[in-house]
Amino acid sequence: MPVYVFACPVCGRFELTRPMARAADEARCPDCRHEARRVFTPPSLPALASGVRRALEAEEASAHEPRVVAEKRGRPMPRPVVPAPPCALSH
Ligand SMILES: [Zn+2]
Repeated sequence: MPVYVFACPVCGRFELTRPMARAADEARCPDCRHEARRVFTPPSLPALASGVRRALEAEEASAHEPRVVAEKRGRPMPRPVVPAPPCALSH
């Protein structure tokens, strides 16, 4: 049976195992019997995954900006050959 997460306004979150057909039924807190509302948490994405996801997003962002990564690699870049600006040639 699937596990559903509910939030008691007094005690916080708790889990209930119930048939999928009764997933939307109201739930009562097992501790204080207060009415609890359903918390939608995909079981495949625990709270820990958000940190991993942030790291992956940062890695992806650096892949789009390779210059930032190259500048932090320690070895100095060879002196770039700066071409004369076009205006210097035409005047
Ligand atoms: Zn409670």
